[in-house]
Amino acid sequence: MRKSSGNSTVSQKSRLQNRMEAFKHQQRSLKEELWCLGFLMSGSVSKRMITCGNSSCACRKDPAARHGPYIYWTTKRKGKTVARLIKNEEAQLYMEWVQNRKKLDQIIRKWTRLSERTFKTALQLRLMMKKGPKGSP
Ligand SMILES: [Zn+2]
Repeated sequence: MRKSSGNSTVSQKSRLQNRMEAFKHQQRSLKEELWCLGFLMSGSVSKRMITCGNSSCACRKDPAARHGPYIYWTTKRKGKTVARLIKNEEAQLYMEWVQNRKKLDQIIRKWTRLSERTFKTALQLRLMMKKGPKGSP
């Protein structure tokens, strides 16, 4: 009679734990990125050339004669897109915070994909812990 089942369970467990450690390591680096994130602003910032209300102004006919550039912050409010003209001195801070928000969205996407890759390992480990011998963590 062979008594190999115990050993193979142990090695399978440590293999799963190693894999889980690697996943947790990736998760930690995402947490650090998240931790370093500053304030957030939704939407986007863009420069636009515009036409004015004066019907005899050259901007009506010649795109090169349009006024600007003006800087707009665009976002969604209750499903509608709204644009706000912002001052030159506001633009830098708007752009930084909008960038932070985009970074956050990126971190969430990465974190979600990582979780999907981790799922099988996490499940196997959890099931193993439940039916494992007493004394297992
Ligand atoms: Zn004009």
